[in-house]
Amino acid sequence: MGAFEDVVINAKSAAASVGKEAGRLVDISKLKLNAAELQRDISKKYENLGKMVYDAYKSGTSDNMSFDEHIGCIDELYKRIEEVNERINALSKKSACPKCGFKNDDKAVFCSHCGAKLGEESQNDATTDFSDDSFGSDLPSDEKNPDNNFSGEE
Ligand SMILES: [Zn+2]
Repeated sequence: MGAFEDVVINAKSAAASVGKEAGRLVDISKLKLNAAELQRDISKKYENLGKMVYDAYKSGTSDNMSFDEHIGCIDELYKRIEEVNERINALSKKSACPKCGFKNDDKAVFCSHCGAKLGEESQNDATTDFSDDSFGSDLPSDEKNPDNNFSGEE
């Protein structure tokens, strides 16, 4: 956990001297460092686990070994990597192309896949005015009243 805190502290002091946009980028690189750190932890766990298995096998005690704790540890690390990656994705906020859905870089002005213009989040380009739709609605509702019209026909 110490390494994680170091990364956070380093990134914080770095972010203090830069603007907001740059701060966001620092956040991203901080998280990426964080993810790399976790990845390294996982590799270490795998290594330890492998050594444990090796030793146990050599000493003939591999049959009654329990790996639950170690597996759980690795699972936990993977979960945290996933969380970190989600935060990276949220921060990098790739703008999806409105036409083809291609995830372009945040700074991109045109879609690098289909060339469509990016940027405007509003989807009010096709202004279709439905407010003038009064046709057919001003007919009075004159449903036939069966009591009035059909009573005399017998
Ligand atoms: Zn596109």
